[in-house]
Amino acid sequence: MKKILSVVVPCYNEEAVLPVFYQEVTKIATRMEKEVEFEFVFVDDGSSDGTLAEIEKLAASDKRVRFVSFSRNFGKEAGLLAGLEYAKGDFVATMDADLQDPPSLLPRMYDYVRDGEYDCVGTRRVNRAGEPPIRSFFARIFYKLINKMSKIEMVDGARDFRLMSRQMVNAIISMPEYNRYSKGLFSFVGFKTKWLEYENVQRAAGETHWSFWKLFVYAIDGICAFSTVPLVVAAVLGLVFCLVAFIMVIIIVVKTIIYGDPVGGWPSMICVVLMMGGLQLLALGVIGEYLAKMYLETKRRPVYIVRKTEQDVKKTS
Ligand code: UDP
Ligand code: MG
Repeated sequence: MKKILSVVVPCYNEEAVLPVFYQEVTKIATRMEKEVEFEFVFVDDGSSDGTLAEIEKLAASDKRVRFVSFSRNFGKEAGLLAGLEYAKGDFVATMDADLQDPPSLLPRMYDYVRDGEYDCVGTRRVNRAGEPPIRSFFARIFYKLINKMSKIEMVDGARDFRLMSRQMVNAIISMPEYNRYSKGLFSFVGFKTKWLEYENVQRAAGETHWSFWKLFVYAIDGICAFSTVPLVVAAVLGLVFCLVAFIMVIIIVVKTIIYGDPVGGWPSMICVVLMMGGLQLLALGVIGEYLAKMYLETKRRPVYIVRKTEQDVKKTS
């Protein structure tokens, strides 16, 4: 029996690139025909343009194409999870729809996992050409930070373009958490991963969905999901300031005994009060962030809600 390779593609408003994407991957599929059979799992993440219609068109003309359509936009992480859960293949590749993940790498990636030498092939871009410098700068800081703060290792420049064995996919989907930070989950499950490098590729068409603010929030999510160091930092800061205050009290008492008690120092006092107030709010905010995440986890809401799949189309036709 020929093995099946599922290609999971989260799509949010990608009508412009989808046909091109499908064409490119189909070319590769034909090239790999002898070795492996392809299955497409498109996840329509509540797109507001013609993405779903485009996917349905592909599904109607090619029975290898399967899809899941969400009831609204749930975000890329939800899309990835749905894709991995729906994929039936012995191997699963996750790819962006915008052709920033070159399909031409698939045969090489497959070579590594085919015989079980590796469980997973990840890709990382060696440069960030075409990206605003300020974004690259913060991205670099983020990776430095998160790698210092958490036990698992996150590779700078790693993309969500990977090819995994069934075993690894099962491990990923067995993690029921609501706050899904894939980059972390992939490295949390372990397994033998081979890294391939390639030059950054610009989007084929359409626009990126990530604003700077969205990336910032995503970074905070990532840190909270895989590290509790911020809580420790808050506690340590509190301790340090207690110590400083204690020493200052001693100094002031001694000074008063020796020199008397001249009134003064109002501005410096306000500064200290403001700083302490700020630090307390910051620490509360950090605790709040974790509490909020816990709150969301305990509700056990589904990560995504499905509105339509290729099964529904088959039933009605
Ligand atoms: N995406 C998604 N849901 C979202 C945002 C993005 O499924 O809410 C998909 C998008 O269609 C694309 C992939 O995630 O296939 C990566 O998005 P994008 O290219 O905008 O990110 P970038 O490459 O700029 O980081
Ligand atoms: Mg992209």
